Amino acid sequence: MIYLDNAATSPVRRAVLERMWPYLTEEFGNPSSSHEYGRQAAIALKQARDRVAGVLGCRAAEVVFTSGGTESDNLAIIGVALATPRGRHIVTTPIEHEAVIESCGYLARQHGFEVTVVGVDADGLVDADEVGRALRPDTTLVSVMYANNEVGTVQPIRRIAQLATDAGARMHTDAVQAAGWLPLDVATLGVDALAISGHKLGAPKGIGALYLRRGMSVEATLHGGGQERGRRSGTENVAGAVGLAEALELAEAARPRSAQRIAELRDAFIGRVLAEVPGARLTGHRRLRLPANASFCFPGTSGEAVLLDLERRGIICSSGSACAAGSDEPSHVLVAMGMDAELAQTAVRFTLSESTTADELAATVTALADSVAGLSGHPSTAS
Ligand code: PLP
Repeated sequence: MIYLDNAATSPVRRAVLERMWPYLTEEFGNPSSSHEYGRQAAIALKQARDRVAGVLGCRAAEVVFTSGGTESDNLAIIGVALATPRGRHIVTTPIEHEAVIESCGYLARQHGFEVTVVGVDADGLVDADEVGRALRPDTTLVSVMYANNEVGTVQPIRRIAQLATDAGARMHTDAVQAAGWLPLDVATLGVDALAISGHKLGAPKGIGALYLRRGMSVEATLHGGGQERGRRSGTENVAGAVGLAEALELAEAARPRSAQRIAELRDAFIGRVLAEVPGARLTGHRRLRLPANASFCFPGTSGEAVLLDLERRGIICSSGSACAAGSDEPSHVLVAMGMDAELAQTAVRFTLSESTTADELAATVTALADSVAGLSGHPSTAS
């Protein structure tokens, strides 16, 4: 099988599993226990926190371990909004992950927040100045994703964060898809909160982290034993935290070379798909996009039919967003980019990994051209 759905999830890397293994077996202690087992677990957790903080360029105390991207986004948005007395206004975009959209929706429904959704252009790009114009004296929080999970467009986060900060608002970014591919230094980005998730990076599902700038109040969404400095109760996932730290460090160390190499493979792939697959259209920004994302529409097909046909041919991809899989609704991201619902139903996403090869992509182009030609009735132009 050729696996090109790495934005949905990725396999746990062997080195990551090896680092985690002791904390799943002999050193299984609860970090809150005062005996030796607990002390060992607490040390492992501290080291993992230090390592995550090292990659994010923040203090260890500013890292909260969570169960993943969804929880990190919920805690950042709901937790920060409810703890900040400044006002009840949030600024966000229509292309966010459901974890952000639904958290904002919850604040609107249950706590009377007003949510301003600034638009995006046809490439899925947010205009920072439009965010600036949406800011008000009562704006509590701005939440704009670093990079989009469906079309890969990378947003001008530094500029947006600067505008938000100048206006006295807090800035959160969902960096779940950016992690491993783009710089994550929170000081350079200028953000107050940043969410990441382990399973997009070669760590397991069920572990994530949230950077929360020091001094920022947050209302906990999980209540209990007061772990994570009261910001996230629940016995910590020690092995998961160790795995996340390892995966993040490995990805960060490889990033300068791997991002460049994968972006080159992606560009060659995009070029061939556009040239050889009948009617193919690229979605997302041509240049400002995640190195591993190549997403398209294939008019005259259905994205789901292309996905299933490619699977029969040994190629795994995704139609639109995996997180919304199972729903027949056209992608909210593509609709926000101005695409009509019919064309949006033809979307297919390929997401590469560090180990994707040129041969795999060449085989994918050939299969895709044949598949789309068969499904759409257009003649194939593939060689
Ligand atoms: N944010 C983005 C941009 C994502 O792509 C995803 C998952 O696909 C999430 C948040 C949710 O992360 P998790 O699956 O770890 O809850």
